[in-house]
Parts: sequence; C-alpha cells; structure tokens
Amino acid sequence: MDFIILAETFEKLEGTTSRIQLTNVLVDLFRKTPSDIIDKVIYLMQGRLWPEWSGFPELGVGERFLIKAVSIATKTSEAEVEKLYKQLGDLGRAVELLKQRGALGGLTQFLSGPKLGTRLSVGRVYDTLSRVASMVGEGSRDIKIKLIAGLLMDAEPLEAKYLVRLIEGRLRLGIGDATVLDALAICFGGSQSYRAVVERAYNIRADLGNVAKALAFGGIESLKNIEPKVGVPIRPMLAERLSDPKEILGKVGGKALVEFKYDGERAQIHRGGNSIWIFSRRLENITHQYPDVVEVLLDGLRCREAIVEGEIVAVDPNTNELKAFQELMHRKRKHDVHEAVKEFPVKLYLFDALYVDGEDLTLKPITVRKKYLQDIVVQSDNLRLADLTITDDPETLERFFLKAIEAGCEGVVVKAVHDQAIYQAGARGWLWIKYKRDYKSEMIDTVDLVVVGAFHGRGRRGGKYGALLMAAYEPDTDTFQTVCKVGSGFTDEDLEKIPSLIQPYVIDHKHPRVDSELEPDVWVVPALVAEVIGAELTLSPLHTCGRGKVGEGVGISIRFPRFLRWRDEKSAEDATRVDELIEMYKRQLRKITEEVSQEQV
Ligand code: ATP
Repeated sequence: MDFIILAETFEKLEGTTSRIQLTNVLVDLFRKTPSDIIDKVIYLMQGRLWPEWSGFPELGVGERFLIKAVSIATKTSEAEVEKLYKQLGDLGRAVELLKQRGALGGLTQFLSGPKLGTRLSVGRVYDTLSRVASMVGEGSRDIKIKLIAGLLMDAEPLEAKYLVRLIEGRLRLGIGDATVLDALAICFGGSQSYRAVVERAYNIRADLGNVAKALAFGGIESLKNIEPKVGVPIRPMLAERLSDPKEILGKVGGKALVEFKYDGERAQIHRGGNSIWIFSRRLENITHQYPDVVEVLLDGLRCREAIVEGEIVAVDPNTNELKAFQELMHRKRKHDVHEAVKEFPVKLYLFDALYVDGEDLTLKPITVRKKYLQDIVVQSDNLRLADLTITDDPETLERFFLKAIEAGCEGVVVKAVHDQAIYQAGARGWLWIKYKRDYKSEMIDTVDLVVVGAFHGRGRRGGKYGALLMAAYEPDTDTFQTVCKVGSGFTDEDLEKIPSLIQPYVIDHKHPRVDSELEPDVWVVPALVAEVIGAELTLSPLHTCGRGKVGEGVGISIRFPRFLRWRDEKSAEDATRVDELIEMYKRQLRKITEEVSQEQV
C-alpha cells in the first residue's frame, strides 16, 4: 500500500470535526489496507511502531537530527530549514513547503528529462523507521540521519509532512481506541453490533494491531474464543466510587469482599517460565523499574505461567510502614535503579489472579480467582496478599475502612462476591467500588480531568497560559465534556512548564471528540490528565458535563477548582467520567439535604 494513502488519511482526520466522520474515515482506510500490514497501519496512526507495552524502543529522534535529515533530503541548508521551522513552529509544515518548492524545480527537470522519485510504501516506511528506532550506539547517528533522509527524498510533500511529525513523536491525531474499535467492527463485522466481540478481544489482549490482524485474516469468528496470553497485557478492571457503606453493600448485592486500597502503583504481573513482565495501569512495561519485585516474584509465584494483579507500595525502610504514592516517584526519577531499590524499598500486595497455567480465569467469579491466587503465592516480607475481610454489615465495613486508613491506605475497594462477579477487563463497573478517604473539603474527592483547551495569561502570567479548560470523559459518545477552567493551584514551576507540555497537542480547531461551549484561546487534543479539587460541585450554563441530565440547559462544574498534580499514568479515557460527576453531585445534594433536616430537628 502506498504511504500517500496513509498521509492523505492523516490529513483528513486532522480536518475532521465530528466523531462519526472520524470512524468513517478509518473504515475507509481499513477497507483499503492489505491484511498483512493492517497492524502496522494502526500503530503508525497512533504515532508509534508497536504497542506501548512491548518495551521495544520508540522512535525518539531529536529535533537536530531531523533538521539535518530534512536539509539533506531537500538540498536546503540547515540554517534555512531551521529558519522556516521557527517561522511556522512546525517542522512537518516546513518540510512540506520545502518539498513543494523542490517539486516545482523537479517539474522543470522532469520536462527536460530525468525521472521522478520512487513511490513510498507503508511497508518501507515502517521497516525503515523500525531500523531507526532499534539502532543504538555512537555510529548509529549518521546512519539514522541517512535512513530518514532517504525516506524524505522519495516522499511527496504531504508524505514528508506526516513522516516528520511521526518521527518527532508529534503525530497527535487524538484517535482513541474506542474509535478504532468501532471502525474495526464496522469494517470486518459489517455493523457496529460486533463492537462487543471486538472489544472483548482487545480487553483480553491489549494490542489493537494484533486484534485487527486477526480480524483481517480470520473475520469476527476468530475473535470469539480469544484467551489471555502471557506477555500481552489484559486491560485492567476498574472501580466505581461511592462513600456510604450501606449504599455500597446494597450495590454489590449485600455481601462483599472488602480489601485495603493500597496507595501505590498498580502492577499487572505476567510470569512465563523464568521471565517476569510488570505492566502499569496504563499498560506500559515497567519491569525494569522493579528488579527487586521481579526477584521476589520468581521465588514467590509457584506456577509455570500466570497473570496476577497487585499494587506496588513504597515502605519506610526504618519502620516498615506504608508510604504514599508520591514516594514511588522518587524511585522512578532515580537513574541508578539498584541504588533506588536500596533507598526506596517497596512491597507488593497481590489482589487478583487472571490466568494460571493455561486456565483463563477472567470469566470466573472472584472467589475462584482468589483461591487460585492463594494456591500459587508463597508470601514473604515483600510479597503479600492484600488484606481483606468478607462482610455484609455496614459497620464492619466502616471499621475495616478506618483500619485501612490507619495502615496508610487510601481507603478500601469493596468487591462483589456473587457468581457473576467476573473480572471485567477494560471496564469500570459496579462489581468493584472504591470507598476513599474524605478529603475534609466540601468536595469529597478529587477528580481527574483532561485538558482540552488553554487561555492566555494576563499580568504576571503574561506570555504564558493563565488557565486550562478541563473536561470529563463521556464513554457513551466517546467525547470529552467541559467541567471548569483551572487557573489556581499551579506553582510558578508548573506554569513555566505548561506551554511546552501542551504545545505538541495544540490544534487550530476544536477536536471532534470535545464537547464545549466555551472558546479557549487555543484548542488542545485531549491527552493530558490532571487531578483537580474544588470547593464544591455546582451547576453552570457554561459547561457541557452532563448537560440536560442534572437540569435544563446546565452542566456540572466545579467551584474554585484547584490544580493538584499531573496524572501521567492516566490516558484521556481514564479521566473521571461524566456519570461519576453526576453521581458526586447528587451525593453532595443529599448531604446538604440531610444536614438541613438535621438542623431543623
Ligand atoms: P484511583 O486514582 O482512585 O486509584 P484509578 O482510576 O486509578 O483510581 P480505580 O479502578 O478507580 O483506579 O480504583 C482502583 C485502583 O486502586 C486500582 O487501579 C489499583 O491501582 C488500586 N488498588 C489498590 N488496592 C487495590 C485492591 N485491593 N483492589 C483493587 N485495586 C486496588
């Protein structure tokens, strides 16, 4: 397949303003794509070469290298390339212009004789970029530049633009997994009704490219009995949230398994023989950060193959007490892993088993999964099973919750124990409910919101951004609905960093997945997630979050919102959902009503 088809699709996607159109453009593309390269097309479209979790090196070619390659390919001096780049603020556009100029020159040449360049194929682009990504060491520099220049030389102007953006890691089309799944279901199943089958396959094997390839070769049937595979992460099951023990127990069917909610990093652990993989909540391969955990697991997991889940928690080396999530960050920032292991020790608390020696446990109830977990884990100081109790009594739940807080946890996760309490891969559902500590502010809990726009600052913040437009995720429509403008809570350092953080995501129109009535100074592709707290939830005619569901013409907003921190480990679709905010708002109303009636008594 010619690369120009992909480049033209990228351009179409960039100009698209509706979510349905996005899907249609993808369906068109998949129909044109030969089966054996559909995986590559999907990775490239998401700005990568392989799934994020593969642990293979990503492109990461620096700007200087690229300028050199562009200069060679377009026979323009580096200074001139750089000047045009500065003018346009986009190296992709710069190379496109230079190639257009070159093409005019080429036309005169063509008329007078010599042939035009060869057409680029997707296969060639992919293979060359893979070589570039895999090359390391001193001598690799010049070869990388030559390889990239070779591609750019043969590229059409439009192809060159997207090639450069891809290599720079700036191809940010904002195509969510949900859009790709819709398009795959329509393309290979014939209608969106096959979405559930495609989604289940993806949840069990989080590799869109692989799912697409299976579909392209074997059709929908080939996905129906898909099972987990060691080394390929399963998309994590997530919890809903509530803060009333009685209501929580009611939701899960009376009796529940109540477990400490450890405040660390979620870890999905795969064992295959003597190999261990650790995947983060976002399914990145984080094995190298935890060599101590790997060692403990090789000893403590008594089976040949397994996929288990737990939380890695920082501990105080002197007191052995659990520490907060932020402590793990020190460990991640350290360059010398072995030193970090000594300085910031951790423990692993396991809470689920999804696959053991050929048995897919994801569709089994939690009681069965726990049994498998107990059978294969040999506990030691740093490898523990999560603390739990089983109860149907709200007071016992509350006492266990207080015990969890005292032990340094965030609260508890209450899990349904009935026969249908399966592991809902990739879904946030009512089979798990988190009950977290009250943050002693009117707004009970923090929320994680996605940046969809930014406003220029004034006065002391002149020349920087003064506020960010934040949105919640609406999975039903796969869109982001605005909740508030956040302008406080940022340190000077945070403010300084915002421009470079959002620059790669800035676009010149509202992204088709964003639902907003406000017009920020710049629009941003939904990708960056921040934790936000405020004084209370309010209704606002300006915001679109849950509009129409809580009142006529109004949406949910946050009064006095404050930025707390970036949540790098979350993707846009992991942000707080619109229905969670509606639930939080209703709970807040109930609380106020209760307080008023108590005062009247
Ligand atoms: P949060 O920011 O509240 O952790 P989240 O979106 O990352 O939310 P949720 O599924 O909503 O994840 O909440 C459950 C999270 O709590 C898990 O992702 C996991 O990291 C953590 N956790 C800690 N202890 C447990 C446990 N015993 N069972 C399940 N999850 C646990």
